[in-house]
Amino acid sequence: MARALKASGHRLPADLARDIEQLYEGLSKEISHLEATCLGRGDCCDFDRRDHRLYASSLEIAYVREAHPEPLERRGSLCPFWRDRRCTERDRRPLGCRTYFCDRRARDSLQALYEEYHGRLREISCRYGYAWSYEPFVEGLLRSTETIRAERPEQAGASSDRKG
Ligand code: SF4
Repeated sequence: MARALKASGHRLPADLARDIEQLYEGLSKEISHLEATCLGRGDCCDFDRRDHRLYASSLEIAYVREAHPEPLERRGSLCPFWRDRRCTERDRRPLGCRTYFCDRRARDSLQALYEEYHGRLREISCRYGYAWSYEPFVEGLLRSTETIRAERPEQAGASSDRKG
């Protein structure tokens, strides 16, 4: 029976975290072979402007939150890691972030990679016996925050601006 994935304030098993890291490394190598250009405008995370909603798996959200157990600030539909039109959490960003480029020339190849690696993530989740869900990324991150606030009320209201 799958264990419920605790996505807030709990460390993932080291082997599981390593498998996710290796999966992302493999994906990065594959993407580097595609002709997808990033102009660095930061438009891809401007969800309000692009009318875009990013989804991620519970495992990916847990992996991000492992590095960020602190309360995260709600800023409408925007990702709490998007600062000055830049991603401040590139190492742990989920598949949807990694495979989304404004340059649409490689769209089909990136979509195929997304589906392949999403399946692999799901296999990892099953292998470690964790429950799997797929949900809006920002909402998942913030729900974890609410859980943390309930668990550690002394942190309620603390600043989340890691760039300070
Ligand atoms: S994790 Fe980074 S790339 Fe993904 S939505 Fe947040 S700021 Fe954008």
